[in-house]
Amino acid sequence: MSAGAPRRVGERLVGGAILDDETRCAHWHGPDDVLAILFPCCRAWFPCHACHEEAADHPAEVWPADAVSEEALLCGRCGGTTAIGRYRETSACARCGGAFNDGCRLHAHLYFA
Ligand SMILES: [Zn+2]
Ligand SMILES: [Zn+2]
Ligand SMILES: [Zn+2]
Repeated sequence: MSAGAPRRVGERLVGGAILDDETRCAHWHGPDDVLAILFPCCRAWFPCHACHEEAADHPAEVWPADAVSEEALLCGRCGGTTAIGRYRETSACARCGGAFNDGCRLHAHLYFA
């Protein structure tokens, strides 16, 4: 699958290999893969680490451990954002309460210090 144009999710534009307006991408596109993350290095939204790697011209940075109040998670279901600390405790959207793919926790080290 090839990368398309960025898509609008809520009020934000999400780039990378995004497939639909719920933030599924070429790498992760299961029913619960409806989460995009704001990368601290470029302040741009991508569905996943691989999307950033393919689209960005620099290595990804991870959020520092004290960045718990950053609204860096974007829900593809409702377009709302969730703070990092809350996401890491609940793995759910702060606005609509929808659960995110719990498997994302396995890759948390790619996004958070
Ligand atoms: Zn970046
Ligand atoms: Zn991806
Ligand atoms: Zn939501």
